[in-house]
Amino acid sequence: MKYDAIIIGSGLGGLSCSAYLARNGWKVLVLEKHIRQGGFAISFRRGDFTFDPSLHMMDGVGKGQNTYRFLEWCGVGSKIEFKKLKYFGRFIFPDDEIRLPGGNLESVMSVLEEHFPHEREGIRNLFRKMTHIYNDVYKFLFSQIPLWLQLPIFPLIYRGLYPVIKKTGEQFFNSYLNDSRLKATLLANWQFLGLPPSQLNVVYSVLPNMDYWMMGCYYPKGGNQMIPDTFVEVIKENHGEVLLNSEVTSITTDGNKATGVVTKNGGRYSGRVIISNACPMETFHNLIGKDKFPRKFMKKMDTMKQSLSYFCVYLGLDKEFRTMVKDEEEHEIFVLDTYDLEEDFRWCSNCEVEKGSFMITLYSNVDDSFAKGNKFVLSLTQTQGYEYWSRYENDYIDGNKDFYNKEKDRMAKVLIKRTEKVFPELSKHIEVLVVATPLTMKRYTGNYKGAIIGWANTIDQCSPMNRMSQKTPIENLYLSSAWTFIGGGQAPVIMSGCRLGKKLIGR
Ligand SMILES: Cc1cc2nc3c(=O)[nH]c(=O)nc-3n(C[C@H](O)[C@H](O)[C@H](O)COP(=O)(O)OP(=O)(O)OC[C@H]3O[C@@H](n4cnc5c(N)ncnc54)[C@H](O)[C@@H]3O)c2cc1C
Repeated sequence: MKYDAIIIGSGLGGLSCSAYLARNGWKVLVLEKHIRQGGFAISFRRGDFTFDPSLHMMDGVGKGQNTYRFLEWCGVGSKIEFKKLKYFGRFIFPDDEIRLPGGNLESVMSVLEEHFPHEREGIRNLFRKMTHIYNDVYKFLFSQIPLWLQLPIFPLIYRGLYPVIKKTGEQFFNSYLNDSRLKATLLANWQFLGLPPSQLNVVYSVLPNMDYWMMGCYYPKGGNQMIPDTFVEVIKENHGEVLLNSEVTSITTDGNKATGVVTKNGGRYSGRVIISNACPMETFHNLIGKDKFPRKFMKKMDTMKQSLSYFCVYLGLDKEFRTMVKDEEEHEIFVLDTYDLEEDFRWCSNCEVEKGSFMITLYSNVDDSFAKGNKFVLSLTQTQGYEYWSRYENDYIDGNKDFYNKEKDRMAKVLIKRTEKVFPELSKHIEVLVVATPLTMKRYTGNYKGAIIGWANTIDQCSPMNRMSQKTPIENLYLSSAWTFIGGGQAPVIMSGCRLGKKLIGR
């Protein structure tokens, strides 16, 4: 049978595109190498506990909001319920603490002004400008006019965005604020965005946080797995197929045209269009072969910079732990040992677990279903570079994990100890402990160097003009993932899958 579209991978970028196409009458086939759909957006169980290995919060998914509109186009909008979180996060610095609300810009500004009264005017001007940029970006994302037609008039239609588009977050924030502690507070969640202010593209310095501050921070009721499961439900309702345990080993071509795929378990499928949700390094190098691509294209890709990875400790805690949680609505806590985010970035990149910032996520405060019997789930996450872990890679692949396990356990202990400054005696409450490293991230999803949000969000890698295109040099082969425009994060990949679906339908 010939499919209209074959989608390699069931991450949210693959599933959103598949659901959009299926609802518009295309016969789709999704092939996923794992036993569960979702890529990074999955849940797993251990004993009395369910863990969401990746999601901390989502933006724009409240009814009528920007990402929600994309969810509706895919037919899943009304099927997933999202809980609005009270806070964006608590930021713990060595000598100070600040808690920012979510979903109310005026309240966010008030908290900041109270904390930094000498910066009142700067804060007001900055937020005015950020609102302008935010509105322009979404105007662009929803525009029906093709990019090439918009380019000549870009400065005129995007007056908020255009003047700053080539700036870093640092350059942008410096034009409004002086206090380095305030600037650090505004981007203290750089771990979500993958880069420190000096390297981060202005759009990524503004957009996700503005979404959280203005529209709210959200979490899917029932856990992260609800999202891919609902996409699959819609795909199947619309006569699509989703085959798990089906690793694609090659994409077949006829001349310069993609024609189908071959799977490890011997399946051969042909399709009019092939969409890869797998990372481009895997897609181009392993599934097709670099000889099929222009040398310049491959050379450029091989010099691009990927985002960092994460080191995660997932903890299932006994029910006594609950008494230590003072605020039942607290969800995300950022712990930083410095206001210098550049230094923090270096610590994290080099895996200096004792110093680098990390996040504490209180899942059971969001949803009781994560733990049975009034027990509690939390996770600790630190951004880390892949290079440090690559020394263990060969042994890890061969199953010789002694040294790797030792290092992984050492780092987990350090993070738990550091967390005890916030929750004393945490270690006495642990019933289940699972650790994931950048090697786990790579093994599980195939993402190059365990990158969590595709290519790094630098100035020259993430605008619509220079993010890797969804169209590839091979005819009928497309990409839909964190590695392409709009970029990484669960909301952005849903939008990008949906945008690709729309383009293909309109072809
Ligand atoms: C620890 C962590 C925390 C995060 N926190 C957040 C957060 O709080 N908020 C947020 O919005 N985002 C967060 N993210 C980022 C977000 O989860 C990702 O950017 C997004 O889910 C990536 O989706 P994707 O579509 O690119 O595909 P991926 O999730 O990368 O999935 C790719 C899929 O393709 C499959 N695949 C690969 N190769 C093949 C093959 N050859 N054959 C068949 N299948 C294949 C893989 O098995 C996988 O299922 C986090 C990520 C991590 C790791």
